[in-house]
Amino acid sequence: MRELVTPYNGRIEKIRPMLDADTIQARVKELGAQISRDYAGRELVLVAVLKGSVIFCADLMRHIDLPGLSCDFLGLSSYGSRTVSSGVVRLTSDVSCSVVDKDILIVEDIVDTGLTMQYLLENMATRRPASVKICTLLHKPANEQVHVPLDYIGFTIANEFVVGYGLDYDERYRQLPYIGTMSFEDA
Ligand code: 5GP
Repeated sequence: MRELVTPYNGRIEKIRPMLDADTIQARVKELGAQISRDYAGRELVLVAVLKGSVIFCADLMRHIDLPGLSCDFLGLSSYGSRTVSSGVVRLTSDVSCSVVDKDILIVEDIVDTGLTMQYLLENMATRRPASVKICTLLHKPANEQVHVPLDYIGFTIANEFVVGYGLDYDERYRQLPYIGTMSFEDA
């Protein structure tokens, strides 16, 4: 696959493909099968973190074979338009249903420092769910600041800023069917 080169706002944005669409889809299918086995006979609620994990969640849930499956969404802010973690996490919108006594699987796009997932695990724990686990598409262990248990990991990647398949830079590039590393040049 070729590099995507986009002139934008006086700079050139370059995206080098790292995980192609077929590789992502195959792994998402595997994760769905594993989740289906692990939660057999239970009523699982996927809680996807807006906006980055929406595409992942939409694909993942179509590979989960559980009659009691449902999904919900919440918004967290931690990034803005920068490519380094601010460490400040805020709930910007909440789930629409009660999670009391439910089996919750948080669906996240990427775990970097771990601060966002630490915040969300602590927040969820106060709501008395039956269980809370995390499924993240990507994990960047090099930047870990706090350790959070990641129960399902799609891919472990190096410490590079990535976009595509739901992940954005300044709200752009979410629509790419693949994941690529991003770099910049002066125009
Ligand atoms: P953490 O709190 O673990 O440092 O960061 C989690 C959040 O930071 C993710 O949900 C995502 O929004 C953002 N993030 C971390 N690394 C990247 C990256 O390489 N690309 C993009 N687009 N977002 C990232």
